[in-house]
Amino acid sequence: MKLIILDRDGVINYDSDQFIKSPEEWKPLPGSLEAIARLSQADYRVVVATNQSGVGRGLFDMAMLNAIHDKMCKAAAHAGGRIDAVFFCPHAADADCNCRKPKSGMIEEIAARYNTNLEGVPAIGDSLRDLEAAVRLGARPVLVLTGKGVKTQATGGLPQGTLVYPDLAAAVATLV
Ligand SMILES: [Mg+2]
Ligand SMILES: [Zn+2]
Repeated sequence: MKLIILDRDGVINYDSDQFIKSPEEWKPLPGSLEAIARLSQADYRVVVATNQSGVGRGLFDMAMLNAIHDKMCKAAAHAGGRIDAVFFCPHAADADCNCRKPKSGMIEEIAARYNTNLEGVPAIGDSLRDLEAAVRLGARPVLVLTGKGVKTQATGGLPQGTLVYPDLAAAVATLV
């Protein structure tokens, strides 16, 4: 089985410092849905892992988050792709949960759900915490320069071996 883990905001859709609080605010980055379709057509199982502390902060509720993910999954399907599962951390940053990236709880959940180790599984994100969470379980860190990616690259301290691509489409083009 081929698995790939994607961050959501800044990788699949435009990020916002004001949070994505409704389906209307969820807008795909150019080429991201087509990239997911390429992955699906190459038999990758595409899994999303996303921090959504806006829930814990009371900015939107779980029903709204589900509606946003429904829009995302339908948009991917419309482009010919399939998002296999969406894992999310709904907790606020100060909740000290084990799932909010850079902690690895969500990534461990993915490994358990698919009954696989994540050695070499590409994990694509635009923030250092995405990569840190993934490499702890042996996944392969990939930074994209959309979203916060340019800032993340400039700040430095990326895990050893991190690959850097302009966007999801460019990263996927090296995999399929
Ligand atoms: Mg992000
Ligand atoms: Zn959490």
